[in-house]
Amino acid sequence: MTRPLDAYRAGIRDTLLAAEEAAAAIRARPDAGGIRQQSAAAALEAFSAAFRCEALPEPRNAVLEALRAISDQPGEEGETPCPECAGRLRWSRAENGHVWGACEAADCLRWMM
Ligand SMILES: [Zn+2]
Repeated sequence: MTRPLDAYRAGIRDTLLAAEEAAAAIRARPDAGGIRQQSAAAALEAFSAAFRCEALPEPRNAVLEALRAISDQPGEEGETPCPECAGRLRWSRAENGHVWGACEAADCLRWMM
């Protein structure tokens, strides 16, 4: 039963796109440097960005959440709670910037990037 929500989100996306297009059109005008034009464009862009965060949340990305948690930890390897299942997630990072992670649970988070 996601159809009503999909339609709602499509409507929000169209509205925000219209606001962003209006801002782009204002910024493309010959008088775009004017204070009124700059204010109007900035207001439309801020409305779009803020409303997008409120109404169209990003789908959850467990690997990204894990990478953020790991970035706060010192050292070259460690453990952190798995954002997907709350199990133990082992991680390590190499000097070349690669970060490896694997949850103790089979079929859960596992990556190398
Ligand atoms: Zn897990």
